[in-house]
Amino acid sequence: MSNVRLFIDHPLASGQAVALNADQAHYLSGVMRLPAGSQIEVFNGRDGAWQASITAASKRGGALSIGEQTAMQQDPPDLWLLFAPIKKARTDFIVEKATELGVARILPIQTEFTNAERIRQDRLQAHAVEAAEQCGGTFVPDVAPLVPLSRLLDGWDPGRRILWADEARVGPADTLSDLRRGPWAVLIGPEGGFSEAERLRLAGCDFVTPVSLGPRILRADTAAVAALTLFQAHLGDW
Ligand code: SAH
Repeated sequence: MSNVRLFIDHPLASGQAVALNADQAHYLSGVMRLPAGSQIEVFNGRDGAWQASITAASKRGGALSIGEQTAMQQDPPDLWLLFAPIKKARTDFIVEKATELGVARILPIQTEFTNAERIRQDRLQAHAVEAAEQCGGTFVPDVAPLVPLSRLLDGWDPGRRILWADEARVGPADTLSDLRRGPWAVLIGPEGGFSEAERLRLAGCDFVTPVSLGPRILRADTAAVAALTLFQAHLGDW
């Protein structure tokens, strides 16, 4: 089996035939140069990973035949990432790294100092798919539409706690080992940080726990990776 992995949004079972769209067929035959008969691994985010053989691939489309299951479905912890989009390449990086590190959902949020007015949700979702293909995962986090932070907090279910990376606490890093178990969301601000009004609002929410990520101010993309790493090490599935 080649080490090529492909996400396909289709139920998977042994013996199943699956049609490839033009992009998928181009990726397999044009980019990876795999001839018909080649074996790859496929996953759909729900049913684990499966061996598949390419039965046809041309510029316009193709088909796979699904073989044996190669891995059971493995979902990440019930952890969400809330982050304020920054410049395009750095936003892409955050989505890619969050997928690799293991989050269940990615929610871009608009804060007062957010540098982006809108996001390309479909493009970010495609980055999450690519990251899952590349890292051997069987799960693809859902990328939600951009929502304003205030609206998100208005409708927040307090059963999920928010771990707020608060740049004002820069200093010795807080240990996360004492945090209670259960669903969490990590919140990372934009390059400009949180506004005074936002910080008051967050500080007043019972379900928000502010934390320091150490003695230096990190860029938002670094902060996302650092916070998710700490979370995974203490409360996640590492
Ligand atoms: N311009 C702001 C920094 C923003 S850094 C300032 O100078 O204060 C971008 C985001 O990364 C912050 O909103 C916060 O969520 C996170 N962050 C960066 N460094 C951090 C630290 N040492 N502790 C906690 N959060 C941090």
